[in-house]
Amino acid sequence: MSIAENIARVRERVEAAARRAGRDPASVTLMAVSKTFPAPLVREAYAAGLRVFGENRVQEFSGKAGELRDLVQAEWHLIGHLQSNKASKAAELFSAVDSVDSLRLAEKLNSAAEKLGRRLPVLIEVNVGGEAAKSGVAPDSAELEELLRSADRLPSLAFQGLMTVPPWSEEAEPARPYFRQLRQLRDRIAARQLPAVGMDALSMGMSHDFEVAIEEGSTCVRVGTAIFGARKKPTLEL
Ligand SMILES: *Cc1c(COP(=O)(O)O)cnc(C)c1O
Repeated sequence: MSIAENIARVRERVEAAARRAGRDPASVTLMAVSKTFPAPLVREAYAAGLRVFGENRVQEFSGKAGELRDLVQAEWHLIGHLQSNKASKAAELFSAVDSVDSLRLAEKLNSAAEKLGRRLPVLIEVNVGGEAAKSGVAPDSAELEELLRSADRLPSLAFQGLMTVPPWSEEAEPARPYFRQLRQLRDRIAARQLPAVGMDALSMGMSHDFEVAIEEGSTCVRVGTAIFGARKKPTLEL
């Protein structure tokens, strides 16, 4: 199957899941997770109409970015753990950082974005499963609170919502309670109407569980394997 065919099938499944949940399919963004795949395949996905791409490493994307510069409508999201010392590079390369997991990182990204004269959209990554090996702030933690309260003094960041990677399971259904937990956390934060914190976005769901994520309110599903096929190289994040 070609990438275009894979995308058409994933799109159909996204739309069906949205309808099942009584949601407008247009309220769910399909992000193509292109990590480990070379620029020509990213180009194919763009030609098939996708505009939002996810990469998990600064280093890898900096190698590809040059080859993809002509895809002017593409949005490049960083979805993997970012070390503070790579914040400036990330702010230069990416349209958005969906994996902010500490106040220190948020501060570094804010200064980097300020120097570039831009406003950087960010999501806060939440470790809903409390797994030691995963990045993300704990739900209802002091760290999350600190990040949320810092938003109004980090004017070069645009806080837009939450992102999560739930504990791995082969089946989709076990992820449901984690997706629901993230949505409920988002709703609690939104209800507080904190200054400079937008809380619409919920980035959750991957190839094997995106339909369940959509049923639980996802606004962005991050799909790699179901679009590009299996990754050959293991990645650090998963
Ligand atoms: C790799 C990755 C994905 C995509 O995973 P697939 O199972 O290939 O769809 C989604 N989110 C994050 C954070 C990733 O690192």
